[in-house]
Amino acid sequence: MRAIHHWIDGKLTPGTSGRTADVYNPATGEVQAKVDLATRAEIDAAIASAAEAQVKWGATNPQRRARVMMKMVDLLNRDMDRMAEMLSSEHGKTFPDAKGDIQRGLEVIEFAIGAPHQLKGEFIDGAGPGIDMYSMRQPLGVVAAITPFNFPAMIPLWKLGPALASGNAVILKPSERDPTVPNMIAELFKEAGLPDGVLQVIHGDKEAVDALLDSDVIQAVGFVGSTPIAQYIYERAAQTGKRAQCFGGAKNHMIIMPDADLDQAADALVGAGYGAAGERCMAVSVAVPVGEETADRLIEKLVPRIEKLKVGPWTAGNDVDYGPVVTKAAKENILRLVETGVAQGAELVVDGRDFSLQGYEDGFFVGPHLFDRVTPDMDIYRTEIFGPVLSTVRAASYEEALKLAMDHEYGNGIAMFTRDGDTARDFASRVNVGMIGINVPIPVPLAYFTFGGWKKSGFGDLNQHGPDAFRFYTRTKTVTSRWPSGIKEGAAFNFKAMD
Ligand code: NAD
Repeated sequence: MRAIHHWIDGKLTPGTSGRTADVYNPATGEVQAKVDLATRAEIDAAIASAAEAQVKWGATNPQRRARVMMKMVDLLNRDMDRMAEMLSSEHGKTFPDAKGDIQRGLEVIEFAIGAPHQLKGEFIDGAGPGIDMYSMRQPLGVVAAITPFNFPAMIPLWKLGPALASGNAVILKPSERDPTVPNMIAELFKEAGLPDGVLQVIHGDKEAVDALLDSDVIQAVGFVGSTPIAQYIYERAAQTGKRAQCFGGAKNHMIIMPDADLDQAADALVGAGYGAAGERCMAVSVAVPVGEETADRLIEKLVPRIEKLKVGPWTAGNDVDYGPVVTKAAKENILRLVETGVAQGAELVVDGRDFSLQGYEDGFFVGPHLFDRVTPDMDIYRTEIFGPVLSTVRAASYEEALKLAMDHEYGNGIAMFTRDGDTARDFASRVNVGMIGINVPIPVPLAYFTFGGWKKSGFGDLNQHGPDAFRFYTRTKTVTSRWPSGIKEGAAFNFKAMD
């Protein structure tokens, strides 16, 4: 059986705990590898070694660090197919989607090539007599990244690009469900010229995460995952004074106005609702048609599109629409929530409960589901299902649709489909959600903007990638200097203005 080890000090290093976790092939349901789970002592040793390596890396000039990012872009492009195959086999997503996962991470590495510009401080001369003032951005030291299963390449790369280019060392604790791609990323960083120890990949579960959170050496934690864990990590990180940004779950709505192009809206909903089996934090899981007529027409257009979806293993070719979900437990949880929806009175218009794929009966496949007449009090509306289940909540007016989304505890992404500029503008300005799409179903901002949700979708300050990431991974120091040739002021005892 394949063994997945830690990546410590530039090489694969077997764990010493004797504890491992199963890594599945979600398409067949078979265990394909065992991943080591780190102990607190292993984490502490990796952190100590990273702290030593960081000193030299932090003092390396930013353009040299940027050159490592430049080389990394080439290497990710070179190895894209090899990595995407591994990603698909451990996660289950289709091959084109796995390449997209790597590509959206690679774009943040490209952005990190601009680190020297992002790291420049500010300067003013003549702030007072003989006084100049300047600020500088310095690396934090050793930081931790704790990442989810659903984007095993993209989210680690979102953290690593800005954190490493800023001069930090990083302990990456990826998801234990699909841990091989993060190791491949570490190997490529070494080939790109990153010194050993500056990036350590430690696999593990709660024990490893708690050790990172309790460490006095770790200065910041970047987390992405489910909301209860995000909140836990945010609170525990704060107890030791760490900087923390913790991104959580989502329930992304799409409001469909009566004037929208309904074919376009239906295509968008199917792609955004069922792509990657709904296992995306930016998946659309709630459709909100405005007006009964819009709702009826939308459902009419959605049903045949959903019934035509091709569900299968990534090896079946590029015309598969989505693959299995990540584990048997995830599948059971989704089907349990579907039953709850039925029991609470929602109308199951497309029923995927009996779905089974010949030859892959033990795989974690879930058929597509569409609910109509869902109401805000139902569990399927309030909970993040994280599966191929789309709920329709009918709204009588634009204001009702807007209020619905604004009252939801999650605030990651949201979309509106309309032809009316006034409504779209009003919506974008008023809605309390972090990322907005106008006739765009999954509004993931590009690398040079920032990514982050509001409300229970994000705890802490500053967003991922874009200029915020460099602010998160550096701290500012401000220097006031005085070279008072010929100026004699004597001692000052009051707190006076510099004029
Ligand atoms: P998860 O919360 O189960 O796991 C995320 C990370 O936390 C993993 O590394 C895991 O090992 C660790 N972890 C799990 N339980 C822990 C515990 N009790 N104590 C300490 N650490 C623990 O999330 P997941 O299932 O891997 O990912 C799916 C979730 O991530 C969804 O809720 C999805 O919406 C969310 N997500 C959010 C974003 C975003 O940007 N907001 C992006 C991607 C995924």
